[in-house]
Amino acid sequence: MIDPFQNEALGNLLLSEVKKITDLPVKYVVNTHFHFDHTGGNKAIKAQEIPIVGRGTIREDMLNRNLEYDPNPVPPDLIVTDDTKIWIGKRLIELEAVEGHSGGTDIIAYVPDAKVLFTGDILFNQKFPYIADGSIKNMFYLYGKANFRHWLGNCFR
Ligand SMILES: [Zn+2]
Repeated sequence: MIDPFQNEALGNLLLSEVKKITDLPVKYVVNTHFHFDHTGGNKAIKAQEIPIVGRGTIREDMLNRNLEYDPNPVPPDLIVTDDTKIWIGKRLIELEAVEGHSGGTDIIAYVPDAKVLFTGDILFNQKFPYIADGSIKNMFYLYGKANFRHWLGNCFR
Protein backbone atom coordinates (compact mmCIF):
# COMPACT_ATOMS: atom_id res chain seq x y z
CA MET A 1 0.00 0.00 0.00
CA ILE A 2 1.20 3.50 -0.79
CA ASP A 3 0.51 6.66 1.24
CA PRO A 4 -2.39 6.05 3.68
CA PHE A 5 -3.79 9.57 3.29
CA GLN A 6 -3.79 12.43 5.80
CA ASN A 7 -5.33 11.16 9.03
CA GLU A 8 -6.20 8.05 10.99
CA ALA A 9 -9.85 7.95 9.85
CA LEU A 10 -8.83 8.01 6.17
CA GLY A 11 -6.09 5.44 6.82
CA ASN A 12 -8.71 3.14 8.37
CA LEU A 13 -11.05 3.81 5.45
CA LEU A 14 -8.30 2.82 3.01
CA LEU A 15 -7.61 -0.40 4.94
CA SER A 16 -11.32 -1.28 4.97
CA GLU A 17 -11.61 -0.62 1.23
CA VAL A 18 -8.64 -2.91 0.58
CA LYS A 19 -10.35 -5.66 2.63
CA LYS A 20 -13.38 -5.38 0.35
CA ILE A 21 -11.32 -6.33 -2.70
CA THR A 22 -8.86 -8.89 -1.27
CA ASP A 23 -8.38 -11.23 1.67
CA LEU A 24 -4.61 -10.85 1.29
CA PRO A 25 -2.90 -8.92 4.10
CA VAL A 26 -1.22 -5.55 3.62
CA LYS A 27 2.48 -6.42 4.05
CA TYR A 28 4.05 -2.97 3.85
CA VAL A 29 3.02 0.63 3.56
CA VAL A 30 5.31 3.04 1.74
CA ASN A 31 5.31 6.77 2.46
CA THR A 32 6.39 8.47 -0.78
CA HIS A 33 7.60 11.51 1.24
CA PHE A 34 7.12 13.23 4.59
CA HIS A 35 4.19 15.57 3.86
CA PHE A 36 1.28 15.04 6.25
CA ASP A 37 -1.28 14.37 3.53
CA HIS A 38 0.73 11.24 2.66
CA THR A 39 1.65 10.16 6.21
CA GLY A 40 -1.18 11.20 8.56
CA GLY A 41 -2.88 7.84 8.06
CA ASN A 42 0.17 6.04 9.44
CA LYS A 43 -1.58 5.89 12.84
CA ALA A 44 -4.10 3.43 11.38
CA ILE A 45 -1.31 1.42 9.77
CA LYS A 46 0.76 1.27 12.95
CA ALA A 47 -2.32 0.06 14.89
CA GLN A 48 -2.40 -2.94 12.54
CA GLU A 49 1.35 -3.55 13.12
CA ILE A 50 2.09 -3.17 9.41
CA PRO A 51 5.67 -2.00 8.70
CA ILE A 52 5.86 1.52 7.28
CA VAL A 53 8.67 2.29 4.84
CA GLY A 54 10.14 5.74 4.31
CA ARG A 55 13.33 7.29 3.01
CA GLY A 56 16.18 9.43 4.21
CA THR A 57 15.28 12.09 6.75
CA ILE A 58 11.56 11.27 6.77
CA ARG A 59 11.47 10.52 10.53
CA GLU A 60 13.19 13.78 11.43
CA ASP A 61 11.10 15.78 8.96
CA MET A 62 7.82 14.29 10.22
CA LEU A 63 8.72 14.83 13.87
CA ASN A 64 9.82 18.42 13.33
CA ARG A 65 8.11 19.88 10.28
CA ASN A 66 4.59 18.42 10.04
CA LEU A 67 3.44 19.36 13.51
CA GLU A 68 1.09 22.20 12.56
CA TYR A 69 -0.91 19.75 10.42
CA ASP A 70 -0.24 16.51 12.32
CA PRO A 71 0.78 17.18 15.94
CA ASN A 72 1.26 13.47 16.72
CA PRO A 73 2.98 12.01 13.66
CA VAL A 74 3.77 8.31 13.34
CA PRO A 75 6.94 8.14 11.25
CA PRO A 76 8.02 5.07 9.29
CA ASP A 77 9.88 2.37 11.19
CA LEU A 78 11.80 1.03 8.20
CA ILE A 79 14.07 3.61 6.59
CA VAL A 80 15.68 3.08 3.22
CA THR A 81 18.55 5.24 2.05
CA ASP A 82 18.93 4.02 -1.51
CA ASP A 83 17.11 2.06 -4.19
CA THR A 84 15.39 -0.98 -2.65
CA LYS A 85 13.56 -4.06 -3.85
CA ILE A 86 10.71 -5.64 -1.89
CA TRP A 87 9.43 -9.07 -2.87
CA ILE A 88 5.94 -10.03 -1.75
CA GLY A 89 5.57 -13.60 -2.93
CA LYS A 90 6.24 -13.45 -6.69
CA ARG A 91 5.51 -9.72 -6.93
CA LEU A 92 8.41 -7.28 -7.03
CA ILE A 93 8.09 -3.70 -5.85
CA GLU A 94 11.05 -1.51 -6.80
CA LEU A 95 11.59 1.56 -4.66
CA GLU A 96 13.78 4.29 -6.06
CA ALA A 97 15.12 7.15 -4.00
CA VAL A 98 14.51 10.33 -5.97
CA GLU A 99 14.70 14.08 -5.45
CA GLY A 100 12.51 16.92 -6.53
CA HIS A 101 9.53 17.44 -4.21
CA SER A 102 10.35 17.05 -0.52
CA GLY A 103 14.05 17.64 -0.08
CA GLY A 104 15.40 14.20 0.79
CA THR A 105 12.44 11.91 1.46
CA ASP A 106 10.97 11.22 -2.00
CA ILE A 107 10.48 7.61 -3.10
CA ILE A 108 8.82 6.32 -6.23
CA ALA A 109 7.54 2.72 -6.35
CA TYR A 110 7.31 0.65 -9.49
CA VAL A 111 5.46 -2.66 -9.80
CA PRO A 112 6.86 -4.21 -13.02
CA ASP A 113 4.36 -7.04 -13.52
CA ALA A 114 1.43 -4.63 -13.18
CA LYS A 115 3.20 -1.78 -15.01
CA VAL A 116 2.17 0.63 -12.26
CA LEU A 117 4.33 3.52 -11.08
CA PHE A 118 3.52 5.32 -7.83
CA THR A 119 5.08 8.78 -7.90
CA GLY A 120 3.74 10.51 -4.79
CA ASP A 121 3.84 14.22 -5.52
CA ILE A 122 6.75 13.92 -7.98
CA LEU A 123 4.51 13.74 -11.02
CA PHE A 124 0.93 14.64 -11.86
CA ASN A 125 -1.05 13.67 -14.91
CA GLN A 126 -1.31 16.65 -17.28
CA LYS A 127 -0.23 19.16 -14.60
CA PHE A 128 2.94 21.01 -13.68
CA PRO A 129 5.08 19.30 -11.03
CA TYR A 130 4.68 20.57 -7.48
CA ILE A 131 8.14 21.47 -6.19
CA ALA A 132 7.16 22.32 -2.55
CA ASP A 133 10.25 21.52 -0.40
CA GLY A 134 12.32 20.23 -3.33
CA SER A 135 14.04 21.98 -6.21
CA ILE A 136 13.38 22.43 -9.90
CA LYS A 137 16.98 21.38 -10.64
CA ASN A 138 16.46 18.02 -8.91
CA MET A 139 13.06 17.57 -10.54
CA PHE A 140 14.57 18.00 -14.01
CA TYR A 141 17.41 15.64 -13.08
CA LEU A 142 14.85 13.01 -12.07
CA TYR A 143 12.89 13.37 -15.30
CA GLY A 144 16.12 12.64 -17.16
CA LYS A 145 16.98 9.49 -15.19
CA ALA A 146 16.87 6.29 -17.23
CA ASN A 147 14.90 4.23 -14.69
CA PHE A 148 12.23 6.89 -14.29
CA ARG A 149 11.75 7.32 -18.02
CA HIS A 150 11.77 3.55 -18.58
CA TRP A 151 9.24 2.86 -15.83
CA LEU A 152 7.02 5.74 -16.86
CA GLY A 153 7.15 4.58 -20.48
CA ASN A 154 6.15 1.05 -19.47
CA CYS A 155 3.04 2.36 -17.75
CA PHE A 156 1.71 3.68 -21.07
CA ARG A 157 2.34 0.55 -23.15
ZN1 LIG B 1 3.93 16.54 -0.98
